[in-house]
Order: sequence, then structure tokens, then C-alpha cells
Amino acid sequence: MKKRYIMSPGPTEIPAEVLVEAAKPIIHHRTPQYRNVLAEVLEGLKYVFQTKNDILIFPSAGTGAMESAVCNLVSPGDKVLVASVGNFGERWVKIAKAYGANVEHLAFQWGYSVDPAKIEEKLKSMPEISVVYTTLSETSTGVENDIKAIGKIVQKYNAVLVVDAVSGMAAVEFKTDEWNVDVVVVGSQKGLMLPPGLSFVSLSNKALELAKKSVSPKFYFSYESALKSLKAEKLPDTPYTSAVSLIMQLKEAIKLIRDEGIENIWKRHSKLASATRAGIQALGLKLFPIDSYSNAVTAINVPDGIDGSIFTKKIRDEYGITLAGGQGQIKGKIFRIGHLGYADTFDVIIAISAVEMALYELGYPVELGAGVKAAEKELLKK
Ligand code: PMP
Repeated sequence: MKKRYIMSPGPTEIPAEVLVEAAKPIIHHRTPQYRNVLAEVLEGLKYVFQTKNDILIFPSAGTGAMESAVCNLVSPGDKVLVASVGNFGERWVKIAKAYGANVEHLAFQWGYSVDPAKIEEKLKSMPEISVVYTTLSETSTGVENDIKAIGKIVQKYNAVLVVDAVSGMAAVEFKTDEWNVDVVVVGSQKGLMLPPGLSFVSLSNKALELAKKSVSPKFYFSYESALKSLKAEKLPDTPYTSAVSLIMQLKEAIKLIRDEGIENIWKRHSKLASATRAGIQALGLKLFPIDSYSNAVTAINVPDGIDGSIFTKKIRDEYGITLAGGQGQIKGKIFRIGHLGYADTFDVIIAISAVEMALYELGYPVELGAGVKAAEKELLKK
């Protein structure tokens, strides 16, 4: 037998309390019993997002929520700005182009974060920009963007700010309303400690006003339809069949989040991330990010002489631990350790130990225990 661990930046491990919900009999989604649960999770999500805005839930991957934030906000020919720092930021460009938007792309070099001043320059020189799309935690590079600073800038202009918080929500500090973020998109399989399959979108009034003007084709992801069901009666409803079991699981996950407290969750992730970084650096390895680190995922350069795909494959197939490799232009050049969602102190130790042992077995000069020791020291800090 091999014990399996999933330490990718999504999907992530799921707590037992959440897992068992999926084994329970299905209740019908048009019943008061279900709709009361829906009301409860929608309130809970507002706490997690730190917003008073309405939140919509779609049974889809996170990319579905991203697509909804294009087809509902943009009309063909509209000028939009994408500020990207990696693979997922670049996805905004692809989706926006698919809907005929006129995309202004601020592409920062992978490894760096968005320079908010560059966004301001664009908004000043192109007042016709209607939407700014960016990413909170760029999962492909392990970089976190300063959304607070970006929000401060964008709120002075006509543009709506859309943030992909798919891997950042309930992991890194994020305050939707306080930071003036109009639209936030999230997926279930990361910080929220759920299986893949749900996506979430929060919408400010500024975003809703813009949505009224959009003439892009839409049906399943129409905000108008979703909001109509949400508000039609006393209890919220969904236009199409709800992912009932996932919503039941969400109810449990939100209980766990409320019990811990969102600030404590951010602190836990910060501690796990700094311990991971300390462990990696003590092994003589280099972190991929240059000017900011995501507390949800750590991206590490594969050291010279080691084949990145053999390295992560060995850790997965021989040790039973799923880490992640690199994507796009850095495929094979980096590996990534996810420490988000249902992740705690000793998960970091397992991950660092696996990295040490695999490097050792592959003939790379590491001192066994050096990474674990550095991580432990960081974890013991008060
Ligand atoms: N954005 C970010 C930052 C992500 O990490 C991911 C998933 N890795 C996505 C978008 C896309 O989510 P999904 O794969 O659920 O469509």
C-alpha cells in the first residue's frame, strides 16, 4: 500500500467532515430544505469574500466563472485591460479575445508581480477601458499581486476591476469591499477545501451596471438569469439544477472556515508558506518568484542537472505525493508545492522531506534533514 498525499495548488486535500457530506442522499434542489442551505452558504461566502455584494454560484470549473466575467461585462469591440503575471492571467486575454474584446495586455515578466502604477498609466491614457482583469495569486508562478493597491487606482476610473482569486481565496489576505474589487471569481477546489466543480462570482453595483450594457452572447452563465433566481422569492434559487452535494459540502467547509476565522486562515497560510520557503532555500534551491510570494503556493526552480518532470513523477509515483510541475513557458523548469486549504504544519514537513529525499536519490548534493530543520525552525516561531 502507498499512502497518497495531494500537495498541488489545487485540487487540494479535503477534510473528513466535508468528504462525508457527498455520501449522503440527494435532496431535491427546489425544496425549502435545500434552499435554506443555499441561503446559509451564500451568507457564509460573503464572510469568506469579505463582501456585502451578491455572490453567484455556478456548477463549473473556475474558468467558467472567469468566462462569465467576460461574457457578462464585455461587448465585442470594448477595450479591456489585462494585467498578467503568468499562465492564468494570460487566460483572461484568451477569453476576452474569444468574445471579441479589444485587449490591451500588460504582460509582466513571469516571476514578477503587477506594477500597479502601470495600470494607472493605461487607465489615464485610455479612458475607454471598461474592465481591468488581473489575478490575486498567480498559481503558475507562485506570485501574489497587490490587489489593494490596484483597487485603489481602478476605483478612481470608470473601469470595473475583476480579480481571479481562484487559488487565493481563503488562503491569502483578501478583502473584496475594503479593497474596491468589483468582481471576484473563485473555484471550489483550493482554499475552500472542496472537490472541483463549483465556481463563485461576487458582483458590485458598478459591475452590475456595466453588465446591463453587455450584448455578448450568454446563456448558462448569464448574470441576469442567475440574479433573477437568487432574488425571485424569499429563499434563493438557481436557474438550473444545483450541484446539491457540493453545496452540502460547502456548508461544512464554511463552518470550518468560520470556526477558524478568516484572519487566522490567512495567518496559517502565511506561516506554512514561509516555512516552505525556508526549507527550500536551506537546500540551496532558488524560489521562482522575484518580487512577491503567494502564501498559497511556492514555485521553485528545478536545480541544474535535474529533470523537472522526472523529479515530480518520482515524488508522485514512488513517494505517493502529488506536487505540481511548471506550466507554459516554464514547463519542466520549476516545480510547485501547494500549501493551501486543508493544509497544516506537518504537511510542509512531508513536502520538504520528499523534495530532499528525491534530490538525494537523483544524485543532487543535499544534506538530508537540512530543509526539514529550517522549516521546523520557521514553524516553531511564535
Ligand atoms: N486561475 C487560477 C489562479 C488558478 O489557479 C486556476 C486553477 N489552477 C484557474 C484560474 C482555473 O481554474 P479551473 O482549472 O478550475 O478552471
